[in-house]
Order: sequence, then C-alpha cells, then structure tokens
Amino acid sequence: MATNKNRILNHIGMIKEKAALLDASVVKEERLCRAGHIELQLTDKCTLNCSNCHFRDLGDHTFSFDWLDRIVKNIRPSAITLAGGGEPTIYSRFNDAVLKLAEIPRVKLGLITNGTVIPKGEWVKHISWIRVSVYSVENGMYSGRIPQFLDVVINNIQWYLRESNIPNVGIHFLFYRKNMSDILSFSKRMYFRFKDDKKNFGRVHIQFKPAFIMARPTQLTPELHKENVELLPDYDQIRSTLSEFENEFSKDESFKVFLETQSNFSIFNQLSNGYLDELINITRVRDFPLKKNEKNRCYVCLAYQLIDPNGFIYPCLTLAEHRLKEFSLGHISELPNSPVEKLNKFYTASTECCNKIFCRNWSQNEVVKENIDKPLKIDIPKDNFF
Ligand code: SF4
Ligand code: SF4
Repeated sequence: MATNKNRILNHIGMIKEKAALLDASVVKEERLCRAGHIELQLTDKCTLNCSNCHFRDLGDHTFSFDWLDRIVKNIRPSAITLAGGGEPTIYSRFNDAVLKLAEIPRVKLGLITNGTVIPKGEWVKHISWIRVSVYSVENGMYSGRIPQFLDVVINNIQWYLRESNIPNVGIHFLFYRKNMSDILSFSKRMYFRFKDDKKNFGRVHIQFKPAFIMARPTQLTPELHKENVELLPDYDQIRSTLSEFENEFSKDESFKVFLETQSNFSIFNQLSNGYLDELINITRVRDFPLKKNEKNRCYVCLAYQLIDPNGFIYPCLTLAEHRLKEFSLGHISELPNSPVEKLNKFYTASTECCNKIFCRNWSQNEVVKENIDKPLKIDIPKDNFF
C-alpha cells in the first residue's frame, strides 16, 4: 500500500485505541472492526492475462454491491484503494461503487488499474490518486493480449493526466529478468510523451517495482526458490541498466532530474547494493519457525485491511495474498461482529510471516512502535496515499 513508511502514522489514533482495547481484553466490536485504510478488490475478472498474475484462475469472483454498505457503516476507513484481484474498472457497477464509497465522510479514494478501460461516469471526481500499471510487450503480446493494448494504456494515462483532474497520476512499471531491457525505453517514452506538457508533467510519477512470486515461510521448496531467482533480474542486468541510465543522464540533465524527483529510480541502486539479495533470500529454504519475540506487537493490522471479491477481510496484507480463510477475520456481511481472538493472533504477531524477511509492513510497524514508545517529531504526509 503506502510507499512512505511514515504514512501509517496518519492512523496512529485508531491504532492506539484498538491496541488499548485488545491489551485490556475489552470487546468493543464496533471499534475493533474499523480500519484506517482498506484495499478493496471488487473483482477477480480482468481484461489482461499477465503471466506473473497472482489472481488468475482463482475463480473470477465479484464483490456484492450490497456489501459496500458494511464498509460505509462499519469499517468507515479514511482511505480506500480500489485494486486487483482483477481489474477494478470492469466491475459492473464501478461508477455506483465509487459514489457509494465517497459517502464516507472525508474519505480519500485511490485506484490501481491496468489502464485498458476508462469507465463512464462521475467517479473520476472522487478519486484522489490513480496508479496505472504498464507492462512490456513480450513475444508480440501485451500481457497475453494484442500488442496494441500498450498504446491504449499510454493514451489512457494521457487522458487521466490531461482530462481527469485527478491530483496524482502514477505509472507503475513491473520489471523482471525478461524485460529489464525495456526499463530505459519505457522511461524515455514517458518522459518524451509528457515533458512539454508544462501544466501536467509535474503530476506524473513512475514507480518501478520488481515482480515477486508468492511464498509462505512454511512452504518453501528448492523449486520455488529457483523460480524466484529466475524471475528476478541478476546483478549484471542491474549494473548494465544503471550504466545505460548514466549514459542517458550525461546527455540530458532534465531526464535525470525527472527520474530522480518523479520516480523511485533509486530502487536500482538499492538493488545493486544488497536489496536484490534480500529478494532472493525470501525464498531460500531455511529452518522454520524463525525466532519469535513474545512481546512483539503488530500495529499495522489494526490500521489496514484488505477485502477480497468474496467479501473476506484480511488484516495482514502479507498473508492476504494467499486468499486463505484461515488468514481472514471473517466475512464482511457479519460486521459489526468482529472475531477478537482472530484479530489478536495478528496483533500479537503470531503468524508465520511475522518476521523481518516475510512481513511487507515491517518498517511501518517499526515506525509505529517507535512513535508509541516515544513520539517522534517526524514529517507525516498529510495524504494517506502514494
Ligand atoms: S492486469 Fe493485473 S489482474 Fe490483470 S492479469 Fe495482469 S496482473 Fe493480473
Ligand atoms: S506479517 Fe505479521 S507483523 Fe507483518 S503485517 Fe502481517 S500480522 Fe503484522
């Protein structure tokens, strides 16, 4: 969800309140079922068919429109990200769903889309940010579809930038071993496409993200590790990507400024300085269980929730990926009833993923812990996203 780890502090009031209730074993379900930021997956259906997709073949489920009432009345988040599952914009009542969620007082709505479809309606007026995923054309196909989809997506990014008034327009580029050579050409394409649009260029932001495979610490195998290593780029590729960029930067200083200020380009330096090892090591077969600290607390699970198209609520974004009911708090139609003993399992950081290697929100938890022990004077981004 959030790329700035301090954003979790936007929800510190709710976190402290829920933590105090759980510590005192006070069951106030209407308080405990609330969340600060939810990721809502409206549908598993999609217009594309990416080979790295984690959600294909999961049954193409769809969120029932009636369940949105439970979000508005019981969960009442201050921020909602509409994301996959599949492609949210092809949810049959997408416009109505956004208008319904916008009824939550002061809520901010964000959308993660593959950019192939722009639904009709007033929904754009209620969106604070959008992130469009762009993929590579590989073997003559764009994510399992005709290559022309790449132009459709880039034209739609342009529409969001120039016509929609959405304050933040992010572009997400997924990279992996087989498409590393596309990173530079993609960056240049975005730069040259929008750089002369003085009014809107400053709203473009590119996020480069390494592809990853789903792995559970209890189910690691040498085969899965091999798959992970082969999916990720190798050090030679990262070094050569960096040197290609340096070469371009020496010719065009403003391209360098663009990437340094309007992208997370630094990820390639981080990868070359050890982050790649971390990604590789996630799937390395090792002894389990990892050392557990009895005093550990997870605060992230008190602020965030992911709700899947079947209506199951997951308080841990790391485990939600697996779509297993055992990792959920229960079904949204049961709210405000909220199974406290289940939430406690996450709050006491007792799951198999509650460790620095597997937890995707480890650094956010550290930020909250430090802030609870001794409130810090740090910058908390005012918005809940990006
Ligand atoms: S666009 Fe997203 S949901 Fe659709 S197939 Fe690709 S990865 Fe999966
Ligand atoms: S893996 Fe554990 S510590 Fe991390 S978010 Fe999930 S429940 Fe919290």
